[in-house]
Amino acid sequence: MPRRWNTRKWIAGAGVAGAAAAIAGALGFLALGGAAAAGVEPGWSGNGGNSVTVTLPGAIERVPVVEARTPGRPLVLIDPGHGGQDPGATAVSRDVAEKDLALQLARELRDKLASDGRVRIAMTRNDDRYLTLDQRSALARDLGASLYVSLHMDSAPNPLARGATVYSLSDVASDEESARLAQSENSAAARAAGSDGSVRAILSDLVVQSQMRASATLAERLVRNASGSVELRPNPHRFADFHVLRSAGVPAVLFEAGYISNVDDEAMLRDPKQRARIVAALARAIEADIAARSVR
Ligand code: ZN
Repeated sequence: MPRRWNTRKWIAGAGVAGAAAAIAGALGFLALGGAAAAGVEPGWSGNGGNSVTVTLPGAIERVPVVEARTPGRPLVLIDPGHGGQDPGATAVSRDVAEKDLALQLARELRDKLASDGRVRIAMTRNDDRYLTLDQRSALARDLGASLYVSLHMDSAPNPLARGATVYSLSDVASDEESARLAQSENSAAARAAGSDGSVRAILSDLVVQSQMRASATLAERLVRNASGSVELRPNPHRFADFHVLRSAGVPAVLFEAGYISNVDDEAMLRDPKQRARIVAALARAIEADIAARSVR
């Protein structure tokens, strides 16, 4: 089972700040000075400063968590793919990299979820930093995330390939292309001293099976919410063995928002109005998934 931290325990600056946090938390509102942690983009005030900074053990020390309107709501971890020395795919125009568009989309999704106020939100990164896949999935476990959504942009040798795809975890890939994509996304994990085996050891087969089913449900929900407003590929829900999804240990999807190797998709993904449709679909699916699981 994933470790569950009591987030209060990790609020930055114990003592006075911790006590203030406990009181403010009881009122459902938190605005700590610590919100100016490294990695917060300048000028972002979230849903009116209603955020806390969570300090975790390990390499990633401080993670801002945006609170929901009601305290104690499930936490959604948004993971902008790549970053730092790992740019991901390069756009056909050569003007922008996957890591930048993924971060932009992640921030917009965070802001939409924050304004709806139904879930707590954290991001694996909020600047141009390199994180291993293990660091990303460790965050999901350490923060006690209920959902993990990794955001990426696709690229293909065929310049006509376009549309969004939702991937969920499976032992066996749904098709050759999905297998290749997982292999390429997983290569970042291979660069980190292999801790792949330990994840398999920690999580029993039963837990992984139920994680896979819940992830597939989330992916289907996302496809339903996106159809009609977002350009999707044929068979948009696909499966593969993504390291980061497996080790997150919670329901998780990897969303490829479109092909930046395609001229039209690149223009679409760089247009804030068109991105808003993607963000709306993602937010609806995430909120519906959390709602469905809270009533069980
Ligand atoms: Zn990617």
